[in-house]
Parts: sequence; C-alpha cells; structure tokens
Amino acid sequence: MKINPLLFLALLACPPLHAQELLELNAAQRCIYTGALMDEELYRFPESDRVNAWVKEIAELGDTEINFEVVQTNVENVSAVLDGEKRYLLYSLDFVEKNTELEVVVALAHEVGHHANGHHFSAERRKTEELEADQFMGYVMSKRGFTMPDIEAFLKKLPSSYELSFEDRRLVVGEGFDKAGRSMQINSLPFDNNPQLDELTLPGFPWPPPSCNARFAVPVSSFAGYRTLGDVERKICTALDAKGYAQRSYFSVPNGFAIVTQLEQYNAEDGTARNDRTRWLDYPAKDNFAGVLDYLKSFVMPQKGYFRLFVFVATNQPFGGSAQRVSKDQAAAWLNLGFNKLPRSLATAPFSAGYDVTALVYEFEVPESNRKPIQKCPAPLFDAKTHLQKSGIAAGLGF
Ligand SMILES: [Zn+2]
Repeated sequence: MKINPLLFLALLACPPLHAQELLELNAAQRCIYTGALMDEELYRFPESDRVNAWVKEIAELGDTEINFEVVQTNVENVSAVLDGEKRYLLYSLDFVEKNTELEVVVALAHEVGHHANGHHFSAERRKTEELEADQFMGYVMSKRGFTMPDIEAFLKKLPSSYELSFEDRRLVVGEGFDKAGRSMQINSLPFDNNPQLDELTLPGFPWPPPSCNARFAVPVSSFAGYRTLGDVERKICTALDAKGYAQRSYFSVPNGFAIVTQLEQYNAEDGTARNDRTRWLDYPAKDNFAGVLDYLKSFVMPQKGYFRLFVFVATNQPFGGSAQRVSKDQAAAWLNLGFNKLPRSLATAPFSAGYDVTALVYEFEVPESNRKPIQKCPAPLFDAKTHLQKSGIAAGLGF
C-alpha cells in the first residue's frame, strides 16, 4: 500500500482521533444493501461487539472465513467493499439499532456472502453476484433458525438496490435455505447408525451423464481389496482433500453414487490448478497484477479463463452420455444440489465384482471476447487422465 508521506508525518505529529478517524477507502467497488449512495468521506467509529459477534456467527454458519475488516462508519446501512486487494464490511450503528435482529443479520449475511464468494462488484456480473450473496444469506438464515416467511417479509421491506425482482431473490434465498436444511438434517444424524438418513432421498445425477466430458476409468488397482462403496468414497475424498477440493457434493446413480467437485480454474498451459486467489472464482481473473493500472484494466478488459470440474462415478452399470449438454452455470450448480454425505445404505453397499470408478471431466472456456462460456467439446484441452494427474488427484488415487 502506498502511504502519502505528508499524511504519514501528520499521523506522527498528532495522536489519532479515536472517535472520528477518517477511513481512507476507495469504495467504488461495492454493494450497499439499500440505497446506492455513499458519503464522500467515511469515518471510522468505535467497533460494536454485538455486530462483531453476529459477523463471526454468520461466517461460522456459512462455512467461510472472515477475509475482510469490519468497520462501523457513516454508511446508510451495510456495505461490502473491495479496495484493491483489501475487503471491508461497513455498517451503520444507527441502522443496527433501529432495525430488528433479523433485519440486521439478513443485511450483514448478504454482504458477508459477497466476500465469501470473492466478488469484485463489476457492473457486468452485478446480477449474478447479488443472487449469489442472497443464496449465501438464505443458507445462513436457515441455519440460524429464521423462517422463509420472515426473510420474504424483509426482502419486501428493503428491496435490492440493483434491480433484482422479489421473485428472483426469493428463489435463490430459498435454494440457500433448502441446502442448509439438507445439510443440517444429515449432520444431525450419527453417521454409523442413521436409518433416517436413507429416508432423505439422495438426488440423482443426470443419467446418463451429460455429453462432452473427457472420461477415464480409474485403475482397478486403486481400489484393490476394497469391500464397500464407503471404502471407495473415503479413498476418493482423501485424494480430493489432499489437493484442496474440500467442497463437493453427492448424488445417486444407478447402483452407485457420484461425487462432484467444485468448479475450478486451471492453467491452460499445463493443466495445473490456478493459485488460491483465482482458483475458485467463477469468472476469469489474472493470478497476478503488474500494478494498479493492470489491476484496474482487468475489470474493463475481460481475461480468458479455463474451468473444469470432476465427477467420480462408482457403479456396476455401463453408461454412455446423453445428447444433452451442460452449461458452465448448470455444472457449477451441481455443488449445491447434492448431499454433503453419502447415505449409509450406499456406504455399506458392497463394492463387488463388476464395480469400477470412472472419472468424468467437464471443461469450459470463457473467451476474452465476450465472456460467454463455451464447453470444450469435442476438443478438450487435455484428456481426463492428464487433468487427474496435473490436478494431483491421481497421485492420491495411486496412479
Ligand atoms: Zn449485494
């Protein structure tokens, strides 16, 4: 960060004013919960323990880290800001004190959702980012015990400032809400003795799988001596964990199951995963910036990006591919549609003769020209085995 030498001297000369310290911040990239305006000068006011506790709780319920600074300031309500590489969550104590707990937590959770998703608040992704933040909010509010009608009432009371309809928002908040409901139901059951888990139907993976994937039969030797589907699942998950694929989702397939990983960005040169800053972003972005201009340019001039996700299918059924293709957005949504655990009835099912594991890799390219994703089909950049090796998953599976 550049420090203005005059300001630096001024800071040395006089002690900081705790009550009203100027908050030096470029808030051009932001979401503000309602009202699009922001004061020109923002001041840093003393922290509120209550708000800090809520933010901590939201991050824990949303399975995310606090990768931002929380500041009480003179914003209208609550705002998420990205200034260069630094993220802020700004809030008005006036807003906090004049509204109900539900209303404040909804607004905070929406803004935390922007940071959890690594959003950049660009005009062209505005709608997508707002809906993703709302989905996160629905997830957190469900886990916190609020009801959909409560949230819907609030969405009506304080509509989005970004031209999103109530219906659009209700839909994605409901998705987040349902996802949390499933994950809580499953997590509340002890894994080893949970007949109720099987009463929750594991969602089916599209079958046969959508076409345009590269596929590879994982060598039988990887699972030699394995007796149950649960054994196989644990080996795959250990290999995925070792390479940072912590987010994944379970589906049923005929006589077996499928594990889907989160959509990730990879390097087109060699098939390795991109660095942690860009790997999980769902739009193209540079790994490094040569300077401020380069950084700003990246928002105006789209980058080219390569995306992939892995699906591991364990079944004894032969399968081909359906004529249906899958879009990048549909594939990314798989992560939210499946279970977070393999039900016991499947985990204890025998991994017997005729069973094997096939890895499917779906590749997408987002070209520089228009950012509209293209499925890499029928000419994938790499074959499935190369993807598995370069991602490091193959090593964990022993080939
Ligand atoms: Zn927003």
